[in-house]
Amino acid sequence: MTNTQLPQTDYVPVAPGEVVLIGGGPGDPELLTIAAWRALQDADVILYDRLAPVSVLSQVSAELVEVGKIPRGEFTSQEVINATLIERAKDGQRVVRFKGGDSFVFGRGGEECLALAEAGVPFRVIPGVTSSIAGPELAGIPVTHRGLSQGFTVVSAHIGAVDEQSTINWEALAKSQTTLVLLMGVFHLDEVVETLLGHGLDSQTPAAIIERAASPDMRVIRARLEDLAQAAEDAEIQPPAITVIGDVAALELR
Ligand code: SAH
Repeated sequence: MTNTQLPQTDYVPVAPGEVVLIGGGPGDPELLTIAAWRALQDADVILYDRLAPVSVLSQVSAELVEVGKIPRGEFTSQEVINATLIERAKDGQRVVRFKGGDSFVFGRGGEECLALAEAGVPFRVIPGVTSSIAGPELAGIPVTHRGLSQGFTVVSAHIGAVDEQSTINWEALAKSQTTLVLLMGVFHLDEVVETLLGHGLDSQTPAAIIERAASPDMRVIRARLEDLAQAAEDAEIQPPAITVIGDVAALELR
């Protein structure tokens, strides 16, 4: 892939002293946006985490800084990430923050924007293809479907459904009649399923888990809601994975 093969557009190059947040899509470099690819080429330094399509980084000349956030593992604090973005921009570098999916879907991208604004550092955000839609889609599951689901609700389940820190109204979700998409839900799947069942969601509701979507080793498991947690355990599902609960999960449109 070279820049000369890309379409002519009104792309604005990353300026010295500017930070550009890029949503890199679910992991396949083919699902990067054209703007994202261009900004990666412009960058002097790229701060990335493991959910970004990191394989493209071998094709850029920037300095690469990993700011990984492995669930229950190695961790770069958000404060350090913010401080590094600010420091590099103030040094006059072209800075790119490269994330998986879309920066405004659970990526703490909003906090980075606020920190940059507070520090007086100019920034832009390039939207990305969020895994919450693209992951199911790659498994042939449309998050909405005429006659089956009039909408979808994406929630993070990194906090358990019965945890006092949870701010989600799971009862409302159980009754919402929308497709439910859970991100960061592997560790609390059992609790989430029990909670939804407890609030009356039909135990026979179709469900699916898509693990490592958009990668060559993507796996999809499907089960009825009542069997979902056991199916995930049997398959030894690991993060990153997306759980879809709703009638659409019975479809396989691919
Ligand atoms: N901003 C990202 C989400 C970040 S939260 C986005 O818009 O996609 C991290 C969670 O996203 C993971 O725990 C997992 O639930 C989901 N996720 C991201 N990439 C994924 C992938 N390739 N396959 C499966 N799940 C993925």
